[in-house]
Amino acid sequence: MKLYDSIIKSTGEILAEKEGVRFPYDRSRVWKNLGESELIMRRDAAFELGGQGQPSVNYTCVTTSGLITEDEVYVYGPDLPDIRADVPFAKIVFLETNDLGESEDEEKAYRTIRNIEFVRYHVFPVGYMVRVSAQSNEEQVRVSKKVINSGIRFSYVGAAYIKKYRALPEVRHVRIIFITDGELVEKLTPYAGKVDGITRTLTHILDGLPTDCGHCTMKAVCDEVEGMRELHLKQKKG
Ligand code: SF4
Repeated sequence: MKLYDSIIKSTGEILAEKEGVRFPYDRSRVWKNLGESELIMRRDAAFELGGQGQPSVNYTCVTTSGLITEDEVYVYGPDLPDIRADVPFAKIVFLETNDLGESEDEEKAYRTIRNIEFVRYHVFPVGYMVRVSAQSNEEQVRVSKKVINSGIRFSYVGAAYIKKYRALPEVRHVRIIFITDGELVEKLTPYAGKVDGITRTLTHILDGLPTDCGHCTMKAVCDEVEGMRELHLKQKKG
């Protein structure tokens, strides 16, 4: 699965413009996952990430190219204890998965992507109320005053996500990137649409879309993403 590799690389190039902090996955610092959604009222919130009109974006890319070799969290911009008011927010997830590339079983890869998407909606860190919109690629988070006082950090929240992703047998390594730097959030926002375009095209291909590139609404994606057209032609032959 190399379809998302160019997005992983471009994201890395944009992030390289600023200094981030890396935290290796620490199993002893996993922030408690409630298992169900918690309601945090505005009056009990210290601030919102990507809420109250602030820009917000979220995307997830899967690869089997060896681009992600460790479990880790990166933070760009102020970390949770240093935030005083609502801020822009991006959460980006890169996942290295098992040998889907070797087996060239793209359908299996697609199923994996769907399983992985499930995780996105099923992590409920204590005092960290996440609102995800599948339509707009936004992710907004309301953080309670209580957990700010008890020392919550992105690396601990990231560890809760990593733990959940690593429970999937296909997932080998996870990189979670939290961004509260407005300039980076703005530059990375268009990539969420590109990720969506790839996933949508993949779905159509596996649904048996005819190979008529001249009349296909997915042409722009196939022109841009290396391997997508070949995948469709191969799938049709198979
Ligand atoms: S290969 Fe052609 S027909 Fe298939 S999805 Fe791409 S543009 Fe459409």
